[in-house]
Amino acid sequence: MFSPLIKELMESLRCLPGVGPKSAQKMALYLLERDSQGADRLACSLRDALDKVGRCGTCRTLTEDSECSICLDQERDQTRLCIVETPADVIAMENAGSFDGRYFVLLGHLSPIDGIGPEELGLDRLEKLVVQASVEEVIIATNSTIEGEATSHYISELLKPLNIELSRLAQGVPIGGELEYVDGNTLALALKGRKKL
Ligand SMILES: [Zn+2]
Repeated sequence: MFSPLIKELMESLRCLPGVGPKSAQKMALYLLERDSQGADRLACSLRDALDKVGRCGTCRTLTEDSECSICLDQERDQTRLCIVETPADVIAMENAGSFDGRYFVLLGHLSPIDGIGPEELGLDRLEKLVVQASVEEVIIATNSTIEGEATSHYISELLKPLNIELSRLAQGVPIGGELEYVDGNTLALALKGRKKL
């Protein structure tokens, strides 16, 4: 059988999404037998990222800087804000190429079972940001899953009293669909066809 350290490596690889015991075994043996340089790089970059990557002080996306490059970009339209669930959704929207405003990244969705409420998603900060940055239009682009819809509903109720234009990215994004997997064209159409709330 495998020694304790190898077993531990296999076990820890299983925290990755979609990695079962068989793939974990394959990965661990590959790293140790065939690519110790790659393994070393992986270990170092993982440590580095864990130590240094935090959240953007404005939009909450993951970055090692105090503010991310999108928030720092003065060319972008500060009056428009798009709310997404994950940093991967920001990339998907950017690749679609038809949004030039800024983002607010929830880093999740409302999920009472997992103890994720408005506070965990930074919704108090969202409210302040909309007021302080004089945002005129908010586009809610949470996933069209049940949790994403519930989160969208909560946010729209929260922001309605602020008298801003509120819309929901909907058309073209399949029900139950996650934004990050929607292709750029569909996403651009979904943005164009956003529904007023
Ligand atoms: Zn930012």
